[in-house]
Amino acid sequence: ERLVSAESQPLEDSIEGGIRPLSFSQYIGQEKVKRNLEVYIQAAKMREESLDHVLLHGPPGLGKTTLSAIIASEMGVQMRTTSGPAIERPGDLAAILTALEPGDVLFIDEIHRLNRSVEEVLYPAMEDFCLDIVIGQGPTARSVRLDLPPFTLVGATTRAGMISAPLRDRFGVVERLEYYNENELADIIRRTADIFVTELEEGAAEELARRARGTPRIANRLLKRVRDFAQVDGEGIITYDLATGALERLQVDKLGLDHIDDKLLRGMIEKFRGGPVGLDTIAATIGEESDTIEDLYEPYLLQIGFIQRTPRGRVVTHSCYEHFKLEVPGE
Ligand code: ADP
Repeated sequence: ERLVSAESQPLEDSIEGGIRPLSFSQYIGQEKVKRNLEVYIQAAKMREESLDHVLLHGPPGLGKTTLSAIIASEMGVQMRTTSGPAIERPGDLAAILTALEPGDVLFIDEIHRLNRSVEEVLYPAMEDFCLDIVIGQGPTARSVRLDLPPFTLVGATTRAGMISAPLRDRFGVVERLEYYNENELADIIRRTADIFVTELEEGAAEELARRARGTPRIANRLLKRVRDFAQVDGEGIITYDLATGALERLQVDKLGLDHIDDKLLRGMIEKFRGGPVGLDTIAATIGEESDTIEDLYEPYLLQIGFIQRTPRGRVVTHSCYEHFKLEVPGE
């Protein structure tokens, strides 16, 4: 398993529970999104209505699930969790919707992966809090309208562009989560270390933050691994030297890049003179799916400006050559 992958890993979820922020005040960063949501929540509470449906988009590991749980908690309601691929048939969605209590938050992760027939059931549910169910078959079939309790749908997606226009239009609130800066990540690491009752010395949190790829999930994961080294090789205290030594052994470089980024970037440089090269060609060269590259590997490399998207394909930038101490071809 990849240490710096922003995706959640199966065993991690059990630990995640203890470190997940439970309120806006514990949720570090994303100031604009927090401020907006706080206003909408307060207004909905003053009107004694359910909160408008919320779409959260942005790369994995930035806190979409966490934010949804905070919304539910601030509204004083339950959150029910499901995901796009888990809802296979319209009947699955109907079962979920009819089990909601008034005001509940329904969190649908990977909402861009809902299939069309399920999406069509969702439209009237979101708009009018009702379900249109067809009873019977053939000429005797008739449609029955079923009322639902008012609820708030919180949809999360890493691919806003893949959400159909009619679905997107039914969200009253659309917010984009951004990568975190190093100060915010260092705060998140210090907060998690406090929960773990682990001591961090001067500079250690910052060093972990620099290598966390702008992503809280990765920041927490790096902290956990480095804490293991501190326990076994040190006195349990994470000093700056221990942190840098451990990160070197974990093969996470100064910018949070690992062997997979290395393979991808060097592959583009060595086989295609730095591009432009198409996504499918890159995928074939390094033996990965194009979707995996686009969803998981590429966003951070674009963010730090190591690759650029052009109409003719991906191009490696000068800063990437500099990072690898390589000559830019033709210069
Ligand atoms: P997503 O749903 O976007 O993939 P999650 O909400 O599951 O991300 O967050 C991943 C991890 O990062 C969780 O363990 C959570 O505790 C932590 N985390 C996310 N955002 C924040 C934040 N703003 N402050 C502190 N911790 C955070």
